[in-house]
Amino acid sequence: MLLLRTIRFRLTLWFAIALAVVLTASGFYWQRSLSQNLLGHIDLRLVEVALESSQYHLAHQVEPDMQRQCAELEGFLREQNWNEYVQVLDPTGVVECFSSNLKGFRLPLSAAALQAAAEGRDHTVSDNSLGRYPLRVYTYPVYEDGQLTHLLQVGRNLASVDETLKELRGTFFTFGPLVLGSLGVGGWLLVGWALSPVARMTRAVRKINAESLSQRLPLGHGQDEISQLAETFNEMLVRLEDSFRKVKQFSGDASHELRTPLTIIRGETEVALRWAKDPEEMRSVLQSNLEEIDRMGRIIDDLLTLAKSEAGEMPLEMKEFSLSDLVQQLYLSGRMLGDAKQMEVSLQLDVAEEIRIRGDELRLRQMFLNLISNAIKYTPERGKVVISMAVDDGRAVVTVRDSGIGIPAEHLPHIFSRFYRIDKARNREDGGTGLGLAIVKWIVEVHDGKIRVTSNPDQGSIFTIYLPIEGPQKKQASKSPANSADA
Ligand code: ADP
Repeated sequence: MLLLRTIRFRLTLWFAIALAVVLTASGFYWQRSLSQNLLGHIDLRLVEVALESSQYHLAHQVEPDMQRQCAELEGFLREQNWNEYVQVLDPTGVVECFSSNLKGFRLPLSAAALQAAAEGRDHTVSDNSLGRYPLRVYTYPVYEDGQLTHLLQVGRNLASVDETLKELRGTFFTFGPLVLGSLGVGGWLLVGWALSPVARMTRAVRKINAESLSQRLPLGHGQDEISQLAETFNEMLVRLEDSFRKVKQFSGDASHELRTPLTIIRGETEVALRWAKDPEEMRSVLQSNLEEIDRMGRIIDDLLTLAKSEAGEMPLEMKEFSLSDLVQQLYLSGRMLGDAKQMEVSLQLDVAEEIRIRGDELRLRQMFLNLISNAIKYTPERGKVVISMAVDDGRAVVTVRDSGIGIPAEHLPHIFSRFYRIDKARNREDGGTGLGLAIVKWIVEVHDGKIRVTSNPDQGSIFTIYLPIEGPQKKQASKSPANSADA
């Protein structure tokens, strides 16, 4: 049953059916054209005999005696060594003479032949009523001075045609099934051979699982469809392996990030339980624990945002709002954040009027805050942060520039990856989760925007965001942050 469903079986079956149809059709064609050809030759011969016999008969009908006339004709036929049946009739169809080979029977004269003769036409017919083989009868009207004087009939047994056609049919019925059978088996083997790479591929694919994604399918030599399929499958494996690796790394990183504050909380609590002498000491441990708990909360919030965005479940509220107002508010928040480090946070507006764009205001606020807080975090005390806004070619351009520690070129391609941090120890102290820029990248992407980073170590970094004023053109719900660095 399983075999019947295989491509190999179906292809072979179709091939065999097509072959059978072609063989039968060509059998019919050959039989028909051969029979027509043979009959054509016989008809020509009958016409030739009829013409010559009629000329002879006309020339000798001066003979007054009909019997002698007939004997003359018989002599002529023997002289010519012809073995066709010949018969002479009067215009009404009464037989006058006939060749001796006709013996006991007469050539049939149909009403149609009689009618044709009366109209001056000859007539040929195959008659099946006279024994084992059909008889071909040609009726020729003999006219003298415009008057129908005789009918001359020439006949011939079609035994040779019948036998030849029978032989052809015999050959066809013997060799047809043989050809069909051998080509069917050949087709079965050929299809099996052509599909063998697919079977090999199936076996190879069965062996691949999450643990052996580094395996690749053998590619074969040519550039045929199967090789292309294997190549496409291998490309898919590369992508799968890459995303599995990222998922593994992500879950490893995530558990590591969550475990660190947990270990700290546990360690400090144990120490406090054992050694703390007064409430003040206890209080300071609880304070430290609270910070770690806050940190865990931030990581979990960020992870949730990313997970939801990846699953396309993060609801986005796209509506028109004033980007100018938002940037003003962000500037004020930035100033407050920068105060602690006595930083100079300034705003540069290169636009004459209010800029309104379409987008999710809450998410964009979160995105700019991430950039501004990074700028403040990674800039030493008394440094500078400049927020600026402009419009360029239908896009709002917001820049966050700092005079901070900068990002070395080799790290630039990775900073948008989740949990990627240049200086891990320091970032922990700064309270960074390593997820901020991954979220920034996702928010930019769902707004059909672009982000560009230029940075010089020890001089500072510039993060430039380009947002289409019209908002995103397509539905963005399923866009998710990728771990790549380009943004
Ligand atoms: P974090 O929570 O650690 O800040 P982010 O995803 O926001 O995580 O940033 C990733 C890394 O990129 C940071 O750890 C930091 O090393 C680097 N980085 C981000 N912004 C800046 C900046 N303005 N100046 C220098 N380094 C930066």
